[in-house]
Amino acid sequence: MKHTSQKSIAQNIESILTQIAHAEKKYARPFGSVQLLAVSKTRPIEDIHAAFNANQTHFGENYLQDALPKIGVLAEKDIVWHFIGPVQSNKTRQIAENFSWVHTVDRLKIAKRLSEQRAPEQKPLNVCIQVNTSGENSKSGINIEETLILAKEISLLSNLHLRGLMTIPAATDDFNLQRQPFHLLRELKDEIQSQGIELDTLSMGMSNDMEAAIAEGSTMVRIGTAIFGQRTKIL
Ligand SMILES: *Cc1c(COP(=O)(O)O)cnc(C)c1O
Repeated sequence: MKHTSQKSIAQNIESILTQIAHAEKKYARPFGSVQLLAVSKTRPIEDIHAAFNANQTHFGENYLQDALPKIGVLAEKDIVWHFIGPVQSNKTRQIAENFSWVHTVDRLKIAKRLSEQRAPEQKPLNVCIQVNTSGENSKSGINIEETLILAKEISLLSNLHLRGLMTIPAATDDFNLQRQPFHLLRELKDEIQSQGIELDTLSMGMSNDMEAAIAEGSTMVRIGTAIFGQRTKIL
């Protein structure tokens, strides 16, 4: 794997935080309303160390087997781990036990398992519902029309704390096209909130569409490549 130096990881984080602050200003978002989630999937522990030393504390991982050794080695650090990959039902126990957040809940069965398997002495697991905002272009995420019902069901599960919605739109370089799915997700969040379900999170925006996501109300951008460089490892 191409080596990303500790120094460049720190510099990249600083640069992203500057870009976030600029976008908050440009789109009349309150300063500090967009949180940076560093996506460390496939990256070695040294890279996470480098980011942590640059004051980054929230990290996102996609693959349980890739994540567990890192979580173990870094257990002494004050790191908040987010699971952002597809959730298979035979992996829910380890996800519920080892992560603080899951962004990719898209069906009730998975939500129920996560709630049942979250240890009672732990705080409720923070979850986002993954929504398919790109129609047939994407297979992951629940359809927009079904999201409200799932949100109501999840909000009743005692060991989960429903925080918001997440989406991974079909990739495009066109800024105005990038905004559309994010706009849909924000409208959906507003609709669910109008039904009395408290949501504070829109997990949207990656390295290539971060500004469009912030323009549309993102509260958490999930950034991998722009912090750690191109991924070469395929999992
Ligand atoms: C890999 C990944 C990211 C980060 O993507 P980059 O383009 O590297 O910033 C964000 N969210 C999810 C769900 C991912 O799988």
